[in-house]
Amino acid sequence: MLCDCARTQTAVPLRQVSAAEVQAELKRFDAAVLAAEVKLREVQESVRRTLGKDEAEIFEAQVLLLRDVQLRDAVRALCLEKRMNVEAAVEEAIKQLMDLFGRLEDPYFRERATDLYDVGRRLLDHLAESGLPDVPVVHEGCVIVTSEILASVVARLEGQGVRGLIVEKGGLTAHATILARSLGIPTLVQVPEATAKIRAGDLVIVDALAGRAFINPQAEILRKYDQLDANLKVHQGVLKGLIDLPTVTHDGVEIKLCANIGQTADALAAANVKADGVGLYRTEFVFLVQDHFPSEDEQYQFYRATAEHLQPAQTVIRVLDVGSDKPLSYFPLPREANPAMGFRGIRLLLAHPSLLHTQLRAILRLSATHSVAILLPMIDGIDELRAAKAAIERAKAELAAAGLSFNHRIPIGAMIETPSAALLVRYLADEVDFFSVGTNDLVQFLLAADRIRGEMPSTYDPLHPAVIQLLAKLATVARGKGTPISLCGEIASDPSYTSLLIGLGFRSFSVSPGRLLDIKHAIRTTGVQQAENLAEEVLLLCSTRDIKARVQDDWNRRRPVSSPEIVPRCSYVARFSERHPEFADLVDRRDGDLN
Ligand code: PEP
Ligand code: MG
Repeated sequence: MLCDCARTQTAVPLRQVSAAEVQAELKRFDAAVLAAEVKLREVQESVRRTLGKDEAEIFEAQVLLLRDVQLRDAVRALCLEKRMNVEAAVEEAIKQLMDLFGRLEDPYFRERATDLYDVGRRLLDHLAESGLPDVPVVHEGCVIVTSEILASVVARLEGQGVRGLIVEKGGLTAHATILARSLGIPTLVQVPEATAKIRAGDLVIVDALAGRAFINPQAEILRKYDQLDANLKVHQGVLKGLIDLPTVTHDGVEIKLCANIGQTADALAAANVKADGVGLYRTEFVFLVQDHFPSEDEQYQFYRATAEHLQPAQTVIRVLDVGSDKPLSYFPLPREANPAMGFRGIRLLLAHPSLLHTQLRAILRLSATHSVAILLPMIDGIDELRAAKAAIERAKAELAAAGLSFNHRIPIGAMIETPSAALLVRYLADEVDFFSVGTNDLVQFLLAADRIRGEMPSTYDPLHPAVIQLLAKLATVARGKGTPISLCGEIASDPSYTSLLIGLGFRSFSVSPGRLLDIKHAIRTTGVQQAENLAEEVLLLCSTRDIKARVQDDWNRRRPVSSPEIVPRCSYVARFSERHPEFADLVDRRDGDLN
């Protein structure tokens, strides 16, 4: 199981260690203390040189806290008695001591609570550097049950044989969920108390189609799921028959259907289903699986290997959008109360020009031989867009001066994922070659509803009338300006929305490769006139509930007969292969029963 350390914004894994592992964990703690002290002494020395002796003394208190027996004893006790891994034990021990210090009368001790926090962060950083196993030790066929999970952790689950993921918090459009979906891991989010209810060794069925999980289910339920599994395979067979068919509506209108990818494996999956290209390459996943900033050459190789799969079709490479729910362990960012609205996307890159410059050089070099485009994330208006374009011009000039070739007319696009960009779309259109609408963020900012935590699931709803009105406006304005516009948010990957989106004016989508054939099917069974009628009706509705009912009704009439009920949170059913003798409660986050 994993939990998230909110303060440091890095994942602090919580896992049960075996008796045999405890000593090794304690040794890691001692090594981290030594390493943290060396680092602290270096900082102290540089402060002494630049600021003076008195200021440097401040660090003496932190060194003392690092060596504090109380801290060591608390960590030891948690490792030994609760069998916690050392990172989780450090986090917990620091929390306990901070509480204790915070309650003391003496202001000196109360101030030490802040030092303790710093000391804890340093220790966790060193533990991370010393090969922090931030991915739980997973067994082939297991289901991970966790309170929260970061995208960087999910990224490392690839190829580990994880059969399912159950997260107590999380959101359907959080990057961790998007990535889990692209890895084909059935994922349930917002399952309260999952970590308390499910124990190691339980037999768990994760039904990501219906959004339910069963713990140690009875034989009848197991039989039903074997049947559902078989039905799904039939459905997948039907979809495979669409690979070589054109993506056109049933009245002959062509729709461009590209793939959203994060890793090279996704590009292969996209190529296998004959995507029309990559509409969104989230390069942050290239960075998330590293422990250092990839160099220009490393990036070039990554991007090249990815674009290669889709050639000659275009790969739209989005420059780095880290921050928020995609922190990099090797790139400490300031603590923010609202990171999703803080230092991320293009504003972070503009503040770190060398980071942007390196990435742009890698992409531009690739443009010499491959069809690639640059996509700018989280643009909030004209000034940011122009600043980013100026950075592209600088990178071009440098390459030209060095005699390196690149595509001088490389297409440049802007993500439309902030309400400000959406409102300014007609002006932005004069500055870019294309738009990509990121509804995951756009919905979050338009409705002031968190896409990550999802504590209030009902407030984050892409079928909110304000979202629908805005999407209609975007499609109309872009068409009027002659600027290609594509939709790459998760709603494009949900076949029940396809008809509405076509009716609103979209003719290009970028979807997760695993859903591409479902969407192709939905497109091929939709007629433009029919879709426009639906959109016209929906645009007159001002209640989310009414819109949902109307869209669901349309989908129910068109859903492929072979398809089990597919909902956006769908991937497939997974069965954890170990059996536990005890019977545990059912965890169910939605109404309805299987029987
Ligand atoms: C979006 O916001 O819709 C989007 C596609 O970008 P991301 O999900 O990577 O934030
Ligand atoms: Mg986004």
